[in-house]
Amino acid sequence: MHKTNLDIKENNEAVIIKAIIESKSISRAQLSVLTGLTKPSVTTITKRLLDSSLIEEHEIGTPSSLGGRKPIMLKFNPKSALSIGINIREDGFDGTLNFLDGAVIDHFSKNKITISEENTLQELVAMLNMFFLNLPSTPHGVIGITISIHGTVENNKIIFVPHYSLDSIDLVEEISKIFMVPVYLENGANLAALAEYAFSTKYDNLISLNVYGGIGAGIIEKGELLIGHNGQGGEVGHTTLYPNGKLCPCGNHGCLEQYAANDIVISTIEKKLQRKSISLSEVKDLYYQNNQIVVNSINEMAYHLSIGVQSLVAIIAPDIIFLNNPLSKEIPEILKILNDHLSSRFSKDTTVLNSPLGYNAIQLGTTINNTQRFLNVKNLKFI
Ligand SMILES: [Zn+2]
Repeated sequence: MHKTNLDIKENNEAVIIKAIIESKSISRAQLSVLTGLTKPSVTTITKRLLDSSLIEEHEIGTPSSLGGRKPIMLKFNPKSALSIGINIREDGFDGTLNFLDGAVIDHFSKNKITISEENTLQELVAMLNMFFLNLPSTPHGVIGITISIHGTVENNKIIFVPHYSLDSIDLVEEISKIFMVPVYLENGANLAALAEYAFSTKYDNLISLNVYGGIGAGIIEKGELLIGHNGQGGEVGHTTLYPNGKLCPCGNHGCLEQYAANDIVISTIEKKLQRKSISLSEVKDLYYQNNQIVVNSINEMAYHLSIGVQSLVAIIAPDIIFLNNPLSKEIPEILKILNDHLSSRFSKDTTVLNSPLGYNAIQLGTTINNTQRFLNVKNLKFI
């Protein structure tokens, strides 16, 4: 049985641990100044956090000129607990066991399977069992399992998933009953946004634009995820590009993702080149060999994406946008073309960058989600 033995309910404890994590290394006196809490309060709270192994003491710097000891500093101990993240893709599962700073301990993947209501629970339990059989010893054990869903999620319930149905199973109930740890469901783009917020930028307003099989945006405004009604905020892939365009599984015509999703662009290139399949690196090679079919397809994709980005900027006005897309990682010119198209008064000052986290963003987001809920903190930054 794995159960957490810490329950940070005290707001002051949450304030202190967040300050310790974000400062990397801090003294009790500095904590008192930073948080406005009295020194005796800081001493009491940090003792409890030390006793629970969530923080550690270490010595740095030089003793004061009057002699005396080196100051004792405090730092977060990410190895005090474990986090598990599962990503339910369109055709498989990825699972990762992490320490609380995102450091990977173990991971498993299962590919090329059809996700269904019949097999999903069984597959997830089998993967989780592999983790639980070999857990490293830590004071708190596994503090949460976050499951990434490529669909809309609200209040830990799946609302809609376009590529598979999981309607009849309650993953949260079933998995938490078996493993006795908190289980959270979250939209993949939202998890990616949490990860970018924590690891990639000091900004508080950002968009993580995830362009894979579909297109979804995770939006963070002033450190908070913008979820929207039924978790439908950020479904930018289903904004209309061409009102009489291609039919989308969502029921509308001409949705952005029908023209600019990574997998759709690749299958269009395959069709035009009359190939059965083509890898990312082949697309990259053909692009740099100036193959006109590939160059034109990439240009069109970047142009279509720029329209989606322009709308996002006009409505949300983020400080920064992270494009999380396998093709633009291989062909950075996509980013340049996209930025060149952003010419309106609203969008020309917004920076669009390739995501530094790439495919790992979702898994890192699961760790951030578990850690924030365990520590009762929000807006955590590890950068
Ligand atoms: Zn659609």
